[in-house]
Amino acid sequence: MADTAKYVFVTGGVTSSLGKGIISASLAKLLQSRGFRVTIQKLDPYINVDPGTLNPYEHGECYVTDDGAETDLDLGHYERFLNTPTSQANNVTTGRIYQSVIEKERRGDYLGKTVQIIPHITDEIKRCVQILGSKKDYDFVITEIGGTVGDIESLPYIEAVRQMLWEKPDDTLVVHLTLIPYLRAAGELKTKPTQHSVKQLLEFGVQPDILVCRTEHELPASVKTKVARFCNVAANAVIQSIDADTIYDVPLLMMKEEFDNVVLEKLGITDAPERDLSKWQDFLRRFKNPTSTVRIALVGKYVELKDSYKSIAEAFDHAGAENETKVEVEWIHSEEIRHDNVEQFLKGMDGILVAPGFGSRGIDGKIEAIRFARENNIPFFGICLGMQCAVIEFARNVLGHPAANSTEFKEYTSHPVISLMAEQKSITNLGGTMRLGSYPCSLKEGSKAQKAYNKEEIEERHRHRFEFNNEYMQEFDSNGMHATGINPDSGLVEIVELDNHRWFVACQFHPEYKSTVAKPHPLFVGFVSAANHFAQEKTEVRKGVNAG
Ligand code: GLN
Repeated sequence: MADTAKYVFVTGGVTSSLGKGIISASLAKLLQSRGFRVTIQKLDPYINVDPGTLNPYEHGECYVTDDGAETDLDLGHYERFLNTPTSQANNVTTGRIYQSVIEKERRGDYLGKTVQIIPHITDEIKRCVQILGSKKDYDFVITEIGGTVGDIESLPYIEAVRQMLWEKPDDTLVVHLTLIPYLRAAGELKTKPTQHSVKQLLEFGVQPDILVCRTEHELPASVKTKVARFCNVAANAVIQSIDADTIYDVPLLMMKEEFDNVVLEKLGITDAPERDLSKWQDFLRRFKNPTSTVRIALVGKYVELKDSYKSIAEAFDHAGAENETKVEVEWIHSEEIRHDNVEQFLKGMDGILVAPGFGSRGIDGKIEAIRFARENNIPFFGICLGMQCAVIEFARNVLGHPAANSTEFKEYTSHPVISLMAEQKSITNLGGTMRLGSYPCSLKEGSKAQKAYNKEEIEERHRHRFEFNNEYMQEFDSNGMHATGINPDSGLVEIVELDNHRWFVACQFHPEYKSTVAKPHPLFVGFVSAANHFAQEKTEVRKGVNAG
């Protein structure tokens, strides 16, 4: 085992969206499978302090950690692959770096010096990288640098990497991810963009140790040798990353390429234990050999950009594998759903999920979808805003309060069944001020949620301002919608369920953030299982009708 943390930097060249996050997570998985303790960090070169205030269309999902950090969606991949929690320290943005340096300058920490990008900003970047290693919790810190080499905004990060390579030559390593495009007209794989991208890194004083090359076709040895020669890396350090059917195949593809072996060799680690990926392989086997299929409607307003619901989509893959069921997600735009067409969209679905969200756009469609699920006894799962809409729907259509609403959508309403928490009322800043991160929840014995978790006390992550208004608790309870999950400290409602329904569970927290390959989330597993049973029942009824 390494006695000090080793630092692996992952940079990207040629184009964005090559999958640095998945490559970083796959390397981490391979190292973890040998018994090493690994964490992955993302450095994002944008000026926002965190992605919490970004529109999902800009940046996809905002992922929330246990400690309440609003982070990049790649952290979700890190947790899903490694099954170890991340924290604020795992995601650093330029905004955060500058904020910290400016605070130090205001405090007088720089003793009258001129504050500059080098050394002050680069020192702060290096400090943020080494915080993770200095805790002695990890053998490897893998740091993914967002953006593409050559972007103006990523320059200070590349400079910080150059300095760390110089300061810790035995403990640092650079992996550069590039693209080898295939030109169909020429029938050739082209290495020039990779050569240029490495040249650019060299201009900044960084020689990559390993090149991971994204490609749509197998790279012949001749191409690897050519890349190696032009880019000053060993031939075995040119790693092919071919397009995969699922991101969960990538660790195995990287294993075939001996990616982890090359990393260990370069860092002088010779006594690494063998890999044990049996659980991962077992997951893949179940994921790829389903015995049934369910169709789940995901009703949300950001469906054009599927990254907005990344963790939910992944949680369905985990829960599907657990149930040996293929989950086909139908993405349905909530703005398109109306009372007179809801059936067209949702008839035949085996389950309906109403997604999280902010603001009033698309709310009416979500409420219609929930009514349809409730009245037709279709398994239903509501998450955060999805729970709030389920509460509004019940108040309007069952309790007979047509004006029932959330004060997020109508500030003054006669029936504010969802309202702002007292401590939220005085907040004016939008960044980092929601109810964020992990909170405890006690489950009601015998409820569907409690059966799914198979325990009474849980902890789940939150990201919202509004809550179930407890003044209405009694009225909901006596009419069949029960609070089955309660925060034991504040009494806030965390889960509601319906009587007389196959599976109608809605939660105020975000279960999707905690679903991993090793631990599929119990509520997703329960929901997919309910959808599966429902699908089977429908098939049996159909068979019966045909036989009759
Ligand atoms: N907009 C709602 C709130 O702030 C729900 C947020 C969410 O779905 N994450 O409470």
